[in-house]
Amino acid sequence: MIPVTKTFFPPIQEYHVQLDRIWKNEWLTNRGELVKELEANLRSYLDVPNITSTTNGTLPIQIALKVLAKGGEVITTPFSYVATTSAIVWENCTPVFVDIHPEFLTIDETKIEAAITSKTTAILATHVFGNPCNVDMIEKIALKYNLKVIYDAAHGFGVEYERKSLFNYGDVSTCSFHATKIFHTGEGGAFVCQNDELNKELYYHHNFGHAGPAEFHGLGINAKMSELQAAMGLSVMPYMAKIFSERKNVVDFYDENLNFNNLEKMKIRSNTKWNYSYYPIIFNSEEALLKAQDNLNRENIFPRRYFYPSLNLLNYVENISMSVSESISRRVLCLPLYFGIKSEELNRITNKINSI
Ligand SMILES: *Cc1c(COP(=O)(O)O)cnc(C)c1O
Repeated sequence: MIPVTKTFFPPIQEYHVQLDRIWKNEWLTNRGELVKELEANLRSYLDVPNITSTTNGTLPIQIALKVLAKGGEVITTPFSYVATTSAIVWENCTPVFVDIHPEFLTIDETKIEAAITSKTTAILATHVFGNPCNVDMIEKIALKYNLKVIYDAAHGFGVEYERKSLFNYGDVSTCSFHATKIFHTGEGGAFVCQNDELNKELYYHHNFGHAGPAEFHGLGINAKMSELQAAMGLSVMPYMAKIFSERKNVVDFYDENLNFNNLEKMKIRSNTKWNYSYYPIIFNSEEALLKAQDNLNRENIFPRRYFYPSLNLLNYVENISMSVSESISRRVLCLPLYFGIKSEELNRITNKINSI
C-alpha cells in the first residue's frame, strides 16, 4: 500500500539510547532533561528566540486563543485542518471565516478588513501546506485595528520567509509534531512567541498555571510534553536534513513528470524557503478528482483529500458560503509524499494520474 504519508522511524537503537537516559534519570515528565534538550536543539535549529514543547499541536492554539482572543470574534481561514476551527469554538470564541486566495491557498488578506467588527480580537490563520500567509499585510492590518495574530504553523516546520523562520511571525506561532508531520515526536507540538511577557503567560498556562510547587500565577491547563515524546524528537532530529532533501526529490519528480494541462498546483509565496511538506494537486472538477482517487485506490495508492470539507461547512459553525475554499476543497488531492517512497512507486502514481 502507498499511503499519503508515512511516519519517519529513526533507527531503534538510537531511540533506545534516549530511552536509556530516561530510565537512568527515572524521570518521565514535568519538563525533564530530554524535553529541555529538545527545546534547546529546536531553538537553535529553527533560529527562534524561544520554543515551548507541548503534548500536541492543538493545545497551544487553544492556549494562545485563551490568552489573546478572550472569547471574541476570531478571523480565520476555512481551508485548514479542523483543529484550527474547533480550537476557536472550544475556547468560546466565534470563528469569522474569510475566504482563501485561489493560488496560495492561504487566507485572502485583502478580505480581512471587511470582516473586522468591534468584537474582533484576533486573527488565526494557517500557513497551509507550509506556504506562508501574507504575514506582512496581516501584520499591518493587526496593527491598524489592534488585533492579535496567531499562526497555526502546524505545517511550517523548517520554512523560512524572507530568511527568517516562519515561526517568528505573528504574536504566537504554533506547530504540531504529530506522527504525520514532517518533524514528529509521535504526538507533540510547540509554540513560539516573540514577546517575553506573553511567552511567560503562555508558558504558565501550559503547566496548570504553576509558578512554583505551591504557587500559581493564574489559570492553566496541562499541555506539557513528556520525556517519551522528547526521546522520539531527539532521535528524529539528526535526520531532518535527509528528510527535507528526500522530500524535495519527490516534489521535483512530481513537478517534472505530472501533466499539468488539466491540473493546477499551489503557488508558493515568493521569498519562501519551503519545506516540501505536502503535494496538493487541484483538479478541474470534483468528478475528475473522484475518478483519479478511485483509479489510484484500485492500485492500492491512497492519496488524501486535504482539506475537505471546507471548515465553514462544519455543523457547529454558522454556515456562511466561502466560494473559493469550498471549490478548492472539493477539487484538491494530496499525493503520497514521504521519506522512503520509491521511484517505481512515484512512476506508477504519475502515470496513473496522467492517464486520466
Ligand atoms: C496537524 C494539525 C493540527 C493539530 O495538531 P495535532 O498535533 O494533531 O494536535 C492543527 N492544525 C493543522 C493545520 C494541522 O495540520
